[in-house]
Amino acid sequence: MPSYKAPLRDMKFVMQEVLGAGEQLAALPFYKDNETADFDLLSQVLDEAARFVETEIQPLNQTGDKEGCVRDEQGNVKTPTGFKAAYKKFCDAGWTALDSDPEYGGQGMPHLISIAMNEMICSANVAWGMYPGLSHGAYAALQAVGSDELKKLYLPHIVDGSWSGTMCLTEPHAGTDLGIIRTKAADNGDGTYSISGTKIFISAGEHDLTENIVHLVLARLEGSPSGTKGISLFLVPKFIPDASGKPGERNGVVCGSLEHKMGIHGNATAVLNFDGAKGWLVGEINKGMNHMFIMMNAARLGTGLQGLGIGEVAYQNALAYAKDRLQMRHEPRVSGEEADPIIVHPDVRRMLLTGKAYSEAGRALALWLALSLDTEAHHPDEAKRKEAGDLVALLTPIAKAFMTDNGFNVAVQSQQVFGGHGYIAEWGMEQFVRDARIGQIYEGTNGIQALDLLGRKVLMDGGKKLQNLAGTLQAFAEENEGDEHIGDYVGQLGKAAQQLGSLTMVIGQKAMQGAEGADEVNAAAVDYLRFFGHVVYGYLWARMAKIAQEKIDAGQDKDGFYLAKVQTARFYFAKLFPETKALAATIKAGNEALAVDNKAVFGWEHAALAHA
Ligand SMILES: Cc1cc2nc3c(=O)[nH]c(=O)nc-3n(C[C@H](O)[C@H](O)[C@H](O)COP(=O)(O)OP(=O)(O)OC[C@H]3O[C@@H](n4cnc5c(N)ncnc54)[C@H](O)[C@@H]3O)c2cc1C
Repeated sequence: MPSYKAPLRDMKFVMQEVLGAGEQLAALPFYKDNETADFDLLSQVLDEAARFVETEIQPLNQTGDKEGCVRDEQGNVKTPTGFKAAYKKFCDAGWTALDSDPEYGGQGMPHLISIAMNEMICSANVAWGMYPGLSHGAYAALQAVGSDELKKLYLPHIVDGSWSGTMCLTEPHAGTDLGIIRTKAADNGDGTYSISGTKIFISAGEHDLTENIVHLVLARLEGSPSGTKGISLFLVPKFIPDASGKPGERNGVVCGSLEHKMGIHGNATAVLNFDGAKGWLVGEINKGMNHMFIMMNAARLGTGLQGLGIGEVAYQNALAYAKDRLQMRHEPRVSGEEADPIIVHPDVRRMLLTGKAYSEAGRALALWLALSLDTEAHHPDEAKRKEAGDLVALLTPIAKAFMTDNGFNVAVQSQQVFGGHGYIAEWGMEQFVRDARIGQIYEGTNGIQALDLLGRKVLMDGGKKLQNLAGTLQAFAEENEGDEHIGDYVGQLGKAAQQLGSLTMVIGQKAMQGAEGADEVNAAAVDYLRFFGHVVYGYLWARMAKIAQEKIDAGQDKDGFYLAKVQTARFYFAKLFPETKALAATIKAGNEALAVDNKAVFGWEHAALAHA
C-alpha cells in the first residue's frame, strides 16, 4: 500500500525563505487584523493539516478507488466507505472554512495555507478532495458576484461544509465550446427561473456527504443572444432552503447516471437532468461566462495542484521502492547481496530526480501564486493588487497545464521505477497514473489552456503581462549573472527568457494574417506554454538554489536539505530545462507541417481546407 508524508519542510522553505511570506502577509491589513498573518501560527496550522490528511484521508485512497460511487434507482449516490465519516471530521475541525471570509463563518486564513493543504489532499486522495474542492470554487463565484440574499443564505452552509457546490457547464454536445449550450432558463416572474436541460460529467454532482448540493449552472435565458454573450449563471439547489435556511422541498434536478471512468473513482461524475428546476440568477444576465470564470480560475489552479500532489506522492513511493528493490549488480557494489538496490543505477536516478525537480518547482509556483492571490485580494496599494492579479492571470494556465502534464509524466516515471510491480494494482502506482490523467483533460483541456495563455493572456494583452514578468526575470538575471554557483543557470534562463520574447513576436506577427494567423497561434500554443513553463520553473529553481547555497555557505545545512536543493537545481538545468531548445524549434516550425493534404493523410477532405 502506498504511503504519504506531507513535504512540510519544503513547503515552509518556499513560503518563508523563498517568498518571505511572513513579511508579505504582515503588510496586508486583512490578515494582520485577523491575526492570521503570524507565520508561527500558520506553520502550526500546516502541521495539523498534514496530520489530518495523512491519517484520515490518505488511508481511504485505495479503497475509494476499488469501491467507487454507487447510484440507486432514485438517483441517490453513495460514496465509498469512509468518505462520509472523513468529510464530517474535516468539517468539524473547520478545514472547509480555512481561507473563507469571517463574515460567513470562515477563518480568514491566507490562500497560502489553504493551497498548501490542498496539495496535501491531492497527494493523499484526489477523488475525495474534489468534494470540498468544488465547493470552494462555488464559494468564490458566489462571494464575488452573488446578491446579498444569496450570499447570506448559502455561503455560511458552504463555508461550514454542510452544503457542497458543483460547477455545471458541460453538455453532451458542448465541452470546450460553451457558446453552444442548450440548457434553458425561463423567467418565472417572481425572482426565480425554471432551468431545463442536461449537464454531463459533473464532478461531485450527487453524493451523500452533505445535506444539500448547490449547483452553479450555465444556461441561456429565453430571448438572450446566441453564443457566449447570451449565457447566464444560475444557482440551483438540490433542496430548496426554507425560510429558516433549512434544506426543504426537493428541486427538479436528478442524477440520471454516473460515468464509469479511468480514474478518480471515488468522485461521483454525474449526468444531471434539470427539469424545470427552480434557480436563482447569480450576477448579471448574460454575464454568466465572466462569472463562471471566477470559479474556473480557482478550479484551474486546483487542478494544477492535483498534478503536483499526485506527482509528489508517486515520487515519494518510487523513492522508497528504489532504496529497497535489489536488481542487477553495480560497480562499485553497495550491498552484500547478490544484487544492488536500483537507486544506484543512473537511469533510475534520472526518473527519481525528474519527480523531485518537477514537484519542488511546481510547489514553488503554486505557493507563489497563492501569495499573489492574497496580495491581489488584500493589498492596500491598488497598483500592487493589479500587479499580483496580472501575474495570477498570466500564470494560471501554466499552473494548470504544465503542472498536470508534469504530474502525469512523473506518475508514469515513478510507476516505471517499480518495473512490472508498478503495473500491479496493490502497489498503488497504476492508480496514481489513472488519477493523474484527468487533470490534463478537464477544466479546459491543456490545449485550451495553451490557447488561453498565448491568445488571451499574451497576444490580446499586447504582451503587457508578459513584459512585467520579463522585468522580474531580467532584474534577477542582472543581479546574479556573475554568481559563482548560479551564474550558469541565470545565463541559460536569460537566453530562454529573451527567446520567449522573440518567439512571442514572431507568433504575434503571424497572428495578424487573418484566418491563417489564427491557425498559426493554434499550432504554436502547446509548445509555447511548455517553453514558458520551463522559463518559470527555471527562474524558481535558480532562486531556490541561490538561497540554499547561501545557507550552505553560512554553515546552516545540518541535514543536507539545502545541498539537495542545489543538486536538484543542477539536475533541472542539465536534464530538463534543455527541452526548451527542442520546443523553440517546433514553435518556429509553425503550422506548415500540420497543413497536410487532408485526403492523402487523413482520408478526409473539405473544399474550404485546400491544404497541400
Ligand atoms: C471526470 C470528468 C470530470 C469532469 N467534471 C466536470 C465538472 O465538474 N463540470 C463541468 O462542467 N465539466 C466537467 N467535465 C468536463 C470537462 O471539463 C470537458 O470534458 C473538457 O472541458 C473538454 O470538453 P469535451 O470533453 O467536450 O472535449 P471537446 O471540447 O470535444 O474537445 C475535444 C478535443 O478537441 C480539442 N479542441 C477543441 N477545440 C479546440 C480548438 N479551438 N483548438 C484546438 N483544439 C481544440 C480539445 O483540446 C480536445 O483535445 C469533466 C470531465 C470529466 C471526464
